[in-house]
Amino acid sequence: MKRRKFLKNSGLGAAGLMSVPLVKGCANESESKKEQKDSPPVRPIVIATWDVPNATAKAWEVLEKGGSALDAVEQGVRMEEADISNQSVGKGGRPDREGNVTLDACIMDQLGNCGSVVYLQNIAHPVSVARKVMEETPHVMLAGKGAEKFAVDNGFNRENLLTEKSRKEWEDWKKTSKYQPVINIENHDTIGMLAIDAQGNLSGACTTSGMAYKMAGRVGDSPIIGAGLFVDNEIGGATATGMGEEVVRTVGSFLIVELMRQGKSPQEACEEGVRRIIEKNKGKLDFQIGFIAVNKNGETGGYCIQPGFTYRTYSSEGHQNTPSASHIPS
Ligand code: ASP
Repeated sequence: MKRRKFLKNSGLGAAGLMSVPLVKGCANESESKKEQKDSPPVRPIVIATWDVPNATAKAWEVLEKGGSALDAVEQGVRMEEADISNQSVGKGGRPDREGNVTLDACIMDQLGNCGSVVYLQNIAHPVSVARKVMEETPHVMLAGKGAEKFAVDNGFNRENLLTEKSRKEWEDWKKTSKYQPVINIENHDTIGMLAIDAQGNLSGACTTSGMAYKMAGRVGDSPIIGAGLFVDNEIGGATATGMGEEVVRTVGSFLIVELMRQGKSPQEACEEGVRRIIEKNKGKLDFQIGFIAVNKNGETGGYCIQPGFTYRTYSSEGHQNTPSASHIPS
């Protein structure tokens, strides 16, 4: 068995990047040349939850100019954070039940570095604050007022994120105050994005305003590394949209990457990730979960519970919106 395949199959690859120098250090020159010849060519690609052509086009533009996957995913999801017509991400996001827009986001790079912000208010680009947490603090996650202060100290402007449209809808909602998560809300929801750059490096980002009219203080899966997003540069990456509580319960994105490590394709791994959630809910499936994944070779997959979830890819083969296969048939 080839050494690389063995590492993946045996789970030793789970030791992550630490195993790479050791293995490489042992390989003689002809072996490493053979490995290079055997490994598939790098295939830059962007994949994002939902049909977000502006976001994936922006990320692809970064990759085409030779930019890193990390820059690509940050720049890509910022497009949705800035778009006030998207009411589930960034500025214009639907508020919690007290009328506050609170944002969650995270980012992860090819070295396994990660940063996250939760319950961030008044700052339009949580993904960039998450990146600053990753790059400029000894921490992984900042929350609430502390995250907001950190953002302002680092040059982000405070602004009102509650648009008139979202405010009016919230006022209407208060008449009944019925908390019922809407499936495939506007075909948007959380934007999770994964990218592979020309160097073959993988990064991911995930950003959301969370469930509309959530309880004050509620945080979902999207800013939780391993739940809403996970990237392992040796294997691949995964990200999620939908009912965050269910994704957290199964550590969904980490699970999918681990399933790919064990040899599953991105598609098979997403299907198994959804299956675990279905199993835990014993037939009560009145919510949506959508997972997407990409492996190191640039192969992609997506799977969801309810029909209606789509994901967008951008590669040298072009731009494409793919309706995801679903557990409940359409
Ligand atoms: N996953 C997000 C959350 O639970 C919401 C969504 O994608 O609908 O906060």
